[in-house]
Amino acid sequence: MVVTRFAPSPTGYLHIGGLRTALFSYLWARKNGGKFFLRIEDTDKARNSEEAAQAILDAFAWLGLEHDGEIEYQSKRDDIYAKYIKQLLDEGKAYKCYMSKEELETLRETQMANKQRAMYDGRYRDFTGTAPEGVSPVIRIKAPQSGEIVVRDGVKGDIVFKAEDILDDFIIARADGSPTYNFVVAIDDALMGINQVIRGDDHLSNTPKQIVVYEALGFEIPSFYHVPMIHNSEGKKLSKRDGATDVMAYKEMGYTPEALLNFLVRLGWSHGDQEIFSMDEMRELFNPKDINKSASIYNTEKLDWLNGHYIKNTPNDKLAELLESYGLVLSSHDKKEILLDAIKERAKTLKDMVPMIQEILETPTSYDEKAYKKAYKDDTKTILENFREKLTLKDELHLPSDYHHVMEEVINEMEIGFGKIGQPLRIALLGKMGGPGLDVVMAVIGKDETLKRIDNATGIEL
Ligand code: GLU
Repeated sequence: MVVTRFAPSPTGYLHIGGLRTALFSYLWARKNGGKFFLRIEDTDKARNSEEAAQAILDAFAWLGLEHDGEIEYQSKRDDIYAKYIKQLLDEGKAYKCYMSKEELETLRETQMANKQRAMYDGRYRDFTGTAPEGVSPVIRIKAPQSGEIVVRDGVKGDIVFKAEDILDDFIIARADGSPTYNFVVAIDDALMGINQVIRGDDHLSNTPKQIVVYEALGFEIPSFYHVPMIHNSEGKKLSKRDGATDVMAYKEMGYTPEALLNFLVRLGWSHGDQEIFSMDEMRELFNPKDINKSASIYNTEKLDWLNGHYIKNTPNDKLAELLESYGLVLSSHDKKEILLDAIKERAKTLKDMVPMIQEILETPTSYDEKAYKKAYKDDTKTILENFREKLTLKDELHLPSDYHHVMEEVINEMEIGFGKIGQPLRIALLGKMGGPGLDVVMAVIGKDETLKRIDNATGIEL
């Protein structure tokens, strides 16, 4: 069974790069009928907060990403880590190191002066003497001093690390007894049964250390997939200047979960040249073997395009419900189908739809002066009065086509071009040029409001 996990550190908000690896892990588990677990890596008390952990859960809920089982919190697992520290000490695979800060500093300075890599020199590795007084020891693991550590990576292939270049006997527990990052990650992954680790390649340098821990504890080493970073268009690591990095900011900006997930799955993964993936398709087609070896490029236009696609394909009832989060209540509007059908064709985000709709529903209180002067000519009054007259006489005006016919009647009867009626009518209805078809606008606001807006705009002094 494929068992994956997402293991965020709750330091602020859920980063879209983190969400992407979460999505990959989720999809791979679901595709295989496996498990996808969530582990909150909240051991850094200075940087972690409960609100930040909650922000991650909120983002998961918004996106509909479901994890299996209970959430594990590293902060609640100290007893487990202590047990394994003791085990390694008892087995002689770890040892107490009494080196003081000053000694460590002196060692570092000497190494730097000799142009050597700063690393622990193993002086307490085989220490059998009497411990110096007044020093609380750290616990160091006995790392291999020679040979190779091979990370078998599903994205990058085998990556060979030379033990003597990269490993010293690293600390697994600090002087206050608290365990260190690479130690707990390996233990958690092993105990949670994680057999496929998909994470950002910024963690690649941690992997050999974690492998040392797996081996010392006799745990099976999982498969690793280190995913290349997301870059901006200049090839640099994505930063806040390039686009929002907080997942929930995408909700605020009016993106749909479907569009954001579709966008992210394509950042670093592809399936032929297909761009649009429903959640079902993603679950069916995703395979970490197809993750690209090079960094992916963040592209807002693509996200907007996808969002437009998903908005267009969202049923209107659902759309009306979604728009409520952006302050627009449409649920009881009897022409909401016509309105949303017209607006969703042109919107990039849910948030953009709100002013586009409000412009139609609200009676204009001012008029674009330039456009008004251009549209309202000497004959405009007669044309609009004719139109007004014809509307008044009709009882059955419901659909855009009903209004369209009345406009056509005027055009034919008076032998005028469409612009002669269309332009002033648009100014009267919306206060400015632009916007959806006039027939749509009139059908949405209804006959009385149409007549009112025509009257409001007639003969005004600008
Ligand atoms: N907690 C790490 C992070 O948020 C992830 C660790 C991992 O995936 O192994 O970057």
